[in-house]
Amino acid sequence: AILALRPVTSSMRRLEQFTGDAGHELRTPLSSIRLNAQVALAQDRRPEDFRRHLTAIASQAERSTRLAESLLLLARLDRREEVPMETVNLTDIWPDLSTAFAGRLAASELTLQTPSGELTVKADRGLLTIALDNLIDNAVRYSPPKGTIAITMQSAGGRAIIAVTDQGPGIPPTALPHIWDRFYRADASRSRDSGGNGLGLAIVHNAVEAMHGRVAVTSEVGRGSTFSIILPTGTTDVRSDTMIVTS
Ligand code: ADP
Repeated sequence: AILALRPVTSSMRRLEQFTGDAGHELRTPLSSIRLNAQVALAQDRRPEDFRRHLTAIASQAERSTRLAESLLLLARLDRREEVPMETVNLTDIWPDLSTAFAGRLAASELTLQTPSGELTVKADRGLLTIALDNLIDNAVRYSPPKGTIAITMQSAGGRAIIAVTDQGPGIPPTALPHIWDRFYRADASRSRDSGGNGLGLAIVHNAVEAMHGRVAVTSEVGRGSTFSIILPTGTTDVRSDTMIVTS
C-alpha cells in the first residue's frame, strides 16, 4: 500500500510546493502595492509623491497580473487537452515578435536577428508564439546591453529546430537540469530584478510538449545560451539535412 501511494504522496508534495511558491511570489507585489498605498494616504503629499507611489502601484499590479496569467496558462496546459495543430509558416511569426520587442531591444541597444528563409512547422500558432515570446523575453532580460540575440531555424529528417541564442551570462551545468521547473531560478536576485517570475521556461516546456515537440538547451557560463524548440515540419521534408536558414 505504501508503494502504491508513493506517486500520490509525491504529487501532493509537488502541489504543496507549487502552491507555496505561487503564494510567496504573489505576496511580494501585493505587499508593495499595500505599502505604497498606505504611505501615499498617510499624510498630505505633493502631487509628485502621489505620482511616484501610483507608478510603483501600477508596476506591481502589472507584475501580479503577469503572474496570474502565467499560472492560468500553466493550469490550462496541465489539463493536457488535445491542441489543434495547424501548418504554421514561421516566416509570418518573426515580424510580430520583432515589433513586440522593439521598445525593449532599443532600450538596451540589443540586436535581434531573425531568420529570412521559408520553413513551416506543425504547431498551434498561439502556443508557439507564447513559447518563442518567453525565450526571447529571457534572452532580452539576461543579455548585456548592445548584445545580439540570434534566432535561427533549420530542418532535418522531418523536424524543425528553432533556436534562440543570446550572449548573456550562461547557466551553470548544475542548474541546467532544473531550469524548466516552475519557480526555479539559477540566480534569484537577477531574475526578480529583471522582472522574471520563474515560470517562463516551465511555460515553454509545457507548451512545446502540448504540440508534441521537445525543448533543448546548451549554455556556457560567461558566453551565452541557446534554447531550442524542436517540432515536426509542416510539409514533407524534401531538403532533409539541409541547413535552411540562419540569420
Ligand atoms: P525567470 O523569470 O526567472 O527568468 P524562467 O523560467 O524563464 O524564469 O527561467 C528559469 C531560470 O533559468 C532563470 O531564473 C535563469 O536563472 C535561467 N535562465 C533562463 N533563461 C536564461 C538565459 N537566456 N540566460 C541565462 N539564464 C537563463
